[in-house]
Amino acid sequence: MRTCMAEDTEDLNGAAAPARRRERFRIEPSPLPKQKPDARVYNWNEVFLGFTPEGAVQEASRCLECEHAPCVRACPLHNCIPEAMFLIAQGRFSEAALKFLETSNMPDICGRICPQEKLCEGACVLCGAPEPVRIGKLEAFSVDYLRDRYGYPVPVSVLPTGYQLAVVGAGPAGLAVAEELAKRGHGVTVFDAWPRPGGLLLYGIPNFKLKKEVPLALLERLERLRVRFQCGVRLGREHGVEELLGRGYDAVFLGHGATAGNPMKTPGEDLENVYQATEYLVRGNVPPDWLPEELRGLPHAGRRTAVIGGGDTAMDCVRTARRLNPQTEVYCVYRRTEAEMPGRGEERVHAREEGVRFEWLTLPKRFLGNERGEVCAMECIRMRLGEPDAKGRRRPVEIPGSEFTLEVDTVVLALGYNVDPEIAETTPDLQQTKWGSIWVESEETGKTSRQEIWAAGDNVRGADLVVTAVAAARKAARDIDRTLPTRPPKRILSP
Ligand SMILES: Cc1cc2nc3c(=O)[nH]c(=O)nc-3n(C[C@H](O)[C@H](O)[C@H](O)COP(=O)(O)OP(=O)(O)OC[C@H]3O[C@@H](n4cnc5c(N)ncnc54)[C@H](O)[C@@H]3O)c2cc1C
Repeated sequence: MRTCMAEDTEDLNGAAAPARRRERFRIEPSPLPKQKPDARVYNWNEVFLGFTPEGAVQEASRCLECEHAPCVRACPLHNCIPEAMFLIAQGRFSEAALKFLETSNMPDICGRICPQEKLCEGACVLCGAPEPVRIGKLEAFSVDYLRDRYGYPVPVSVLPTGYQLAVVGAGPAGLAVAEELAKRGHGVTVFDAWPRPGGLLLYGIPNFKLKKEVPLALLERLERLRVRFQCGVRLGREHGVEELLGRGYDAVFLGHGATAGNPMKTPGEDLENVYQATEYLVRGNVPPDWLPEELRGLPHAGRRTAVIGGGDTAMDCVRTARRLNPQTEVYCVYRRTEAEMPGRGEERVHAREEGVRFEWLTLPKRFLGNERGEVCAMECIRMRLGEPDAKGRRRPVEIPGSEFTLEVDTVVLALGYNVDPEIAETTPDLQQTKWGSIWVESEETGKTSRQEIWAAGDNVRGADLVVTAVAAARKAARDIDRTLPTRPPKRILSP
């Protein structure tokens, strides 16, 4: 592997000098090739094929480098977007990647899966004229370019500080904290319940949105930073967080996410071939030897699959169902209308292109089983929209007499996630909010009610985004780094 150096950064010879601002309005958006829907349901590869170097230069040349940079303000990590666009427009892709890596621990991941239309691209002044600069795809392009040609930059070694940190949860929050603190010379051990680190990056988000090579490369980078991983270890009742502090860790960071799937509380939920979204997604998308024995084996993929829910997880499940068996009819059943769906528009477009059917304003009332105890149908009722609820979304109301039956042989419940209470229940004096998330004094510090414990990510915010988990985790890491030197290091009794 070559180390990326300044002289390596003239990546695309002959890129034009930056166009004048007024001329940039006339630059056509660069085409962003995608796999065709009828081909992609037969594979698990990413849908977007990525920019060519020439396409990336053209697209980045559209950036107006606005002085007030609304895109930077809209990015939870405040990535230096105009600077990076300027570098890409000049063909200096590796330098652009290094710019993204200054503010983000996983720009190649965020570039692929952030809801950019609500963040940086939603704030781009070119929105509607005719479309924003495709910042996310350019971010992913430049970091892929750097990683594939040179590897991630080798971090500068610093002297060990003697402090040891335990991180609970190897998802985006835990990994970002681990990287930030390892770079500062602290010893870091990450514990996770799954057999491998990665959190939802490996055990949730499907391959057609995020190929596994990308989080795996991030994990390799952390190993080079001497971050240690202990997987298949569930902190809680048997081995508590308190035990980690007792073993000599100077601080604990909680990044255990919001991983408890919401039940539907509908009769028949326990029938065979009715799955929770996480089980369905990991069985479908994760190699069996990365899974505990009881979760190995593909989920059922028969004639007709119904996914209940309207968020991004539901879209990931319907699209997984199409790939598990392209002959399966797949339904997304949602109790409100498309306008109230919380997920990304892009994901719904992809699902529609792939042949998924939507049953709006529909609520399953009961799952029916056959003589073998397998689900064979759903009794549903049609809904209408009533008065707005506390969040301002119109409440769905049943329409009496509108009951009907939908024949199905697989059902997936994608009804959102909550924070698993086990860690809070087993850690003395660790305060929770009334929603069951971990209380922190502020996201600027991630300090919990316990002096030696910090937290950030979905376990604090509730189920949210990779980028918000990373942004909060970086702030917590800064606070941990500021706080550790105020006490002498403890001595680790057993790692
Ligand atoms: C199906 C799906 C698709 C998504 N798609 C997107 C997307 O496209 N874009 C986006 O930005 N976000 C997406 N998200 C949300 C995003 O993945 C999360 O917001 C993000 O992963 C949160 O990071 P985290 O580190 O807080 O938690 P997680 O990624 O959930 O990681 C938590 C880790 O803690 C471990 N853990 C939990 N309890 C314990 C315990 N007691 N002991 C030890 N380990 C424990 C878990 O095993 C897990 O590995 C998606 C979520 C899901 C479920």
